[in-house]
Amino acid sequence: MTNPTQPNGDHDGPLNAFCVDLEEWFHICAADTPYNDPETWDDAPAHVVEDTEVLMRLLDETGAKGTFLTVGWVADKYPELIKRLADAGHEIGCHTYFHRVVFEQTPEEFEADIERCLTSLRDISGQPVDAFRAPGFSMTRDCFWAYPILRRHGITTDVSIVPAARDHGGVDGFTRDPFMLHTSEGEIRCFPVSVMSIAGKTVPFSGGGYLRLFPLSLVKAGYAQNHKSGRPGMSYIHPREINPDQPRLELPWKKRFKYYVGIDKTLDKLRWCLRTYRFTTIAEVVNAVGDWPPYELTGDEIHPVRAETVSA
Ligand SMILES: [Zn+2]
Repeated sequence: MTNPTQPNGDHDGPLNAFCVDLEEWFHICAADTPYNDPETWDDAPAHVVEDTEVLMRLLDETGAKGTFLTVGWVADKYPELIKRLADAGHEIGCHTYFHRVVFEQTPEEFEADIERCLTSLRDISGQPVDAFRAPGFSMTRDCFWAYPILRRHGITTDVSIVPAARDHGGVDGFTRDPFMLHTSEGEIRCFPVSVMSIAGKTVPFSGGGYLRLFPLSLVKAGYAQNHKSGRPGMSYIHPREINPDQPRLELPWKKRFKYYVGIDKTLDKLRWCLRTYRFTTIAEVVNAVGDWPPYELTGDEIHPVRAETVSA
């Protein structure tokens, strides 16, 4: 049996997307913290640049590329960081300007935020910027109205959907496969976050608190399940998750566990994943996906397009 702590060098295997949600250590969703108000952000201790540099070195070391889904406020504060990422061949994606969960915004507020974020990211990076992730994976069934707005502003790939139950966000029971969403404003390629089945439950495994908590044998089983189904995997991480010395926020115990468990081991786990599997940008992964089953946004719901309507 393969030792799950040793890389298996599967670099001829399927492509997987490596995503960094590029935000500060205090950009935590749905929690009452001293940093809920963006007015406080400029005076907060700053860690995002040095933590991101650690991730950049890890990507260099392992020869992988990634997509940095960036908070617009971070890009405006540290434009040189975004330029360096773009110059190094990484993709820049959008993670909203102020990192507010989608379901707490009106469509008008959401659109203004997205527009501001995309303008900054495109100006600074010199890249098209067409991938999006909702803060805290907050693309719930109540938020599908956001898709035509995203498409109107040039977003053609979404990586916001977690097809599992979550505290906030998550679309339990949703398809795990990439699909083409037809909206009134055009098409968006939706690439759901990787999940696995364990004892009848559907859970993420490849990033964030799940990667920090799970043993590598389980992470390995998660990638194997997805690859066996012909599905690319997706890893995701936040710069704060590799910094054991970050300031700790006063959070309820459940959130405290979720945000800070296993931080001292994250970098080693990521290194193992990057050495074991083939990781690149979201753009490269979605371009390699051949089959995009059509789905349609009708009213507030997303459903598969029936075969007879496809051929019409
Ligand atoms: Zn975020």
